[in-house]
Amino acid sequence: MAVTIKTADSGDSRAACRFCGARLEHTFVDLGMSPLCQTHIEPHQLNSMERFYPLLVRVCRECFLVQLEQYVAPDEIFCDYAYFSSYSDSWVEHARRYVEAVTRRFGLGNKSLVMEIASNDGYLLQHFVARGISCRGIEPAANVAKVAVERGIPTTVRFLGRDAAHDLACEFGKPDLLLGNNVLAHVPDINDFVGGMKRLLGGTGVITMEFPHLQRLMAENQFDTIYHEHFSYLSLGTVERIFAHHGLRLFDVEELSTHGGSLRIYACHADDASKADTGEVQRVKAGERAFGLDSLRGYDGFERRVRDTKNKLLRFLIEAREAGKTVVGYGAPGKGNTLLNYCGIRTDYLDYTVDRSPHKQGRYTPGTHIPILAPERIRETRPDYVLILPWNLQQEITRSMSYIREWGGRFVVPIPAVRVLP
Ligand SMILES: [Zn+2]
Repeated sequence: MAVTIKTADSGDSRAACRFCGARLEHTFVDLGMSPLCQTHIEPHQLNSMERFYPLLVRVCRECFLVQLEQYVAPDEIFCDYAYFSSYSDSWVEHARRYVEAVTRRFGLGNKSLVMEIASNDGYLLQHFVARGISCRGIEPAANVAKVAVERGIPTTVRFLGRDAAHDLACEFGKPDLLLGNNVLAHVPDINDFVGGMKRLLGGTGVITMEFPHLQRLMAENQFDTIYHEHFSYLSLGTVERIFAHHGLRLFDVEELSTHGGSLRIYACHADDASKADTGEVQRVKAGERAFGLDSLRGYDGFERRVRDTKNKLLRFLIEAREAGKTVVGYGAPGKGNTLLNYCGIRTDYLDYTVDRSPHKQGRYTPGTHIPILAPERIRETRPDYVLILPWNLQQEITRSMSYIREWGGRFVVPIPAVRVLP
């Protein structure tokens, strides 16, 4: 289906779809007001005002792009970003396996050029460097890019768009592989971004991108993955439409377990006949149609399920409190911030939470002001329940914290519905 791009300038105050320009009037879910998820509060800030922004998610009636309006400039969010990918062992291993597979599949060698968008601290490109393949990282957060450069990963500090693509192609050449993981959802101007990839990619080059799959978000109630840094929530059907508009064709897709269920897409120039379609794109799109993602009605009902999840979690916490039980949190991830703010969970329900990252310890969760302590605190206070906020890491966490069973402690996960683990 062809999509006409309209300019949003009719004097109407409602936002326009960031892809096709249609007026956004259909609500997907309204999670109320929330502060930015990376702004952990320091003790001296506890008595200061905090800025809250709406978490109102819309779905476009024309192209079904599920999206959050942009309230905060991306450079405010990403320029001094606190997330270093190398801190997660499982993510570094995921990257290593990807590099091995893609090098083999597309015959990359010492004459190839690989570029990564949002290359973070070089956790992925380091595996190409080790194979003698030329690399260039493109990373907007200067503090994170600096770490990559110190590790020997050539990195340009920049947001990707059409202008940046032109400059990069002139200076470094056009890549044989252009990749970006967990970046497509984070770009406010998705047309300038995908248009930039089109301009940058070499003639027979391949684009791969990973992003959380909207269908999994909906099927598994992962509403806490909605936060201000994530502007778009993507189905394969909508991504294919956006890429096609910019002259790019999807020829393969893989379903991954990362981030609660992600897609990895493979794209090339629309006129590049050297890439055969694997049939997987059609298969995943058929699943999305069966799920209802190609009609507005398919998006209704999500908000009701989100409220049910909130009610069940609050009921559990209230009953635990009334029974004189102690409940603490594990983790202070971005998704925890949405969950805690949306459900109104403060120290009345959670005494404290713990996090392995020393950058977060001694601070407080944004908006809800729950103290973030070192994990050892759990052994000292022996709580009855530990609520796992980064539920996607629950296996890792229950294994490393299994000692809570010594005093009869139990783990609880909030998503897809509150559940006390056996
Ligand atoms: Zn649209």
